Amino acid sequence: MENPLLGQDALPQFPQIRAEHVEPAVRELLDSNRARLAQLAATPRPTFATVVEPLEELHHRVSRTWSPVSHLNAVLNSDALRAGYNACLPLLSAYHTDLAQSEPLYHAYRTIAAQEGAALAPVQRQVIEHAVRDFRLAGVGLPAERKARFKSAMLELSRLQAKFEENVLDATNGWSWHVTDLGELRGLNDMLIEQAARRAAQQGVAGWTLTLDQPTYVAVVTDAESGELRRAFYEAWTTRASEAGPNARRWDNSAVMEDILRHRHEAARLLDFRNYAEYALATRMAHSVAEVTGFLHELAHAARGAAQREFAELEDFAGRKLPAWDVGFYAERLQRERFCVSQEQLRPYFPLPRVLAGLFEVAERLFGVRIRERGEVPVWHPDVRFFAISGAGGEPIGSFYLDAYARPNKRSGAWMDECVGRKRLPSGAALPVAYLVCNFLPPGNARPALLTHDDVVTLFHEFGHGLHHLLTRVDYPSIAGINGVAWDAVELPSQFMENYAWHPEVLQRIGGHFASGEPLPAAQQARLIATRIFHAGLATMRQLEFALFDFRLHAEYSPQLGGRIMQILGEVRNEVAVVPVPEWNRFPNSFGHVFAGGYAAGYYSYKWAEVLAADAFAAFEERGVFDRGTAQRFFDAILSRGGSRDALEAFIEFRGRRPDVGALLKQNGIRAPGELAA
Ligand SMILES: [Zn+2]
Repeated sequence: MENPLLGQDALPQFPQIRAEHVEPAVRELLDSNRARLAQLAATPRPTFATVVEPLEELHHRVSRTWSPVSHLNAVLNSDALRAGYNACLPLLSAYHTDLAQSEPLYHAYRTIAAQEGAALAPVQRQVIEHAVRDFRLAGVGLPAERKARFKSAMLELSRLQAKFEENVLDATNGWSWHVTDLGELRGLNDMLIEQAARRAAQQGVAGWTLTLDQPTYVAVVTDAESGELRRAFYEAWTTRASEAGPNARRWDNSAVMEDILRHRHEAARLLDFRNYAEYALATRMAHSVAEVTGFLHELAHAARGAAQREFAELEDFAGRKLPAWDVGFYAERLQRERFCVSQEQLRPYFPLPRVLAGLFEVAERLFGVRIRERGEVPVWHPDVRFFAISGAGGEPIGSFYLDAYARPNKRSGAWMDECVGRKRLPSGAALPVAYLVCNFLPPGNARPALLTHDDVVTLFHEFGHGLHHLLTRVDYPSIAGINGVAWDAVELPSQFMENYAWHPEVLQRIGGHFASGEPLPAAQQARLIATRIFHAGLATMRQLEFALFDFRLHAEYSPQLGGRIMQILGEVRNEVAVVPVPEWNRFPNSFGHVFAGGYAAGYYSYKWAEVLAADAFAAFEERGVFDRGTAQRFFDAILSRGGSRDALEAFIEFRGRRPDVGALLKQNGIRAPGELAA
């Protein structure tokens, strides 16, 4: 039987995919791609049609085979799949590095640019420009010995980053909290308690078992009345995969992190960048280390006063000094007292089906698309749903899966990923397909899944990424959708969409009691909206702490001194942290964004893109948030363009000027309209 991972169907055949298919499929695919690459590299008179387009097709095929594997590894993890996945990482890494370091292909692209450049469409020129840049960043042109060292550093990095992620997952799964007295769970919501009772029953013990998944952790530190329980969860969560805490040294990432930083630095130095931060900026919208740190300090300066006032007021409210694990609990209480509204109270008003319908309506009104569920599509878990997007005239545009609920062996958090990328090539066309993954509390026996408003915002955010991937009009896979988009601009569409989750008109549409259908009461809604700026200063400073930590870590690495991870974290905290953090907190050890994923020297992108998103949304507010003309300009300049143009130019085309931090500070209530930064 044919390996299901090698099919080129419009959609992956998930039910047929087994762990034992993974390695053979990847080997076969890479072998055939390598043979084709050798032919392409030897093309006598290279042209866009004879070299670039075929390479775009190969790019598409790798993603088409690998995407379902890495996706299943994240959402349906098993030992067998993990082994297959890990066995392929070095193969893929070697393939990508060989491709990226191919001198003949590099020269072919440069020849094409020189000879054909003027006759090519701008989007085709951009494909070449990106490729030439990436060849340089991959070490083309380096002497053989340096090239080999670069390659081995990259190989090592892919292994280490996977190891980091595994340790975090194992550490998260490796801790739970068991109680036999229901009183100890006071404050937690019924759904969580119900789930904890089921877990205990599955384990054959009396009482309740709480696990360390993200929704449970957040619920405990926000709602549990027991200070002991909050502290235990905080300690377990913030010491995951470290040498501290309840599972000290069991899945310790400390050495893995040092190795990751060392290899990143070495790779950057081999390319003559001073450090990894400079290397990372070569493909970003921001252009220098000073520009990024200047930006972060500007925001810190603007937000510090607000954050300090917020924390002083919170300690006042609690009547004592607050340790880190009590901050969420008292913040929730203060918020409740001030706004008479809480995340948990509002859950019944945000049933997932109604939220989804409202979200789709927003996309339909803005961009003239239609979104409809399709039931007959093969999926990887019974909870997964599938939706198709079509244009105003009914033409198919793309489709996406929604895997909404938390479950064991599924990575925590929420994300959007490419399942199939868009292409329109002589070798064939494909429509884009996306995965939207969340970790919401599952539905109960007699009720749909009920979301907190935070969950609603998360869903809108990931859907914004989805739109970026799905509404692209670019024909070439390497720069279609989110591919090739500067990393610090990639959160623009997602954070832009979050604004709609706060808009009164949208809240009216998505908010309705799951049992009675009663709309979200107007007073509650107004108070919910007011909560958006509650503790915005503290939240900003916290993000800046992560961003500065990450950026300094990569800008200041020294081979003599090593990563100095905890030292730099301490310095950053002295500078920007407002809430005191216990000495044993080891948050870096589970900071997957930076150590396992693509946010290395890039965590600042969240704030950077927030500035872009707030400024872009302000353009809509000026004309009405559903203004079709503004939406069309946003679509034309940014959403549809993928990586086919410079992010700053695209923004300027849409906004008529460079981005300004004012809109974000105003949105956060940190700066009143017209007020200068304090
Ligand atoms: Zn995002």
